[in-house]
Amino acid sequence: MIETRRLIEGQDYYIYYDVPLPNGIHGATVPDGNFYSIYINPRYPQSIREHAFFHELSHIILGHFWDETKTAEEKDAEAEAFIPEARRLYVEWKSDD
Ligand SMILES: [Zn+2]
Repeated sequence: MIETRRLIEGQDYYIYYDVPLPNGIHGATVPDGNFYSIYINPRYPQSIREHAFFHELSHIILGHFWDETKTAEEKDAEAEAFIPEARRLYVEWKSDD
């Protein structure tokens, strides 16, 4: 896992909510070294956008972008399963500030 604490302080990712993505894609993340650009598709309703954000955040926390031992399907399943923990961590980090 990467150093998650720094993520929440906005140093290691930036979220774009205004870039339309193709239909069927709820969110995407583009890594650049230790910096991640998260794109959340504005075409979808808030509940889906929120789910997409925590899905992408889970990929980042789990280090999926640098793990070549798992398939994309395995990573997606892992990210989905990790969402409750990502939500919990996110709230925890927020309340520390
Ligand atoms: Zn995914």
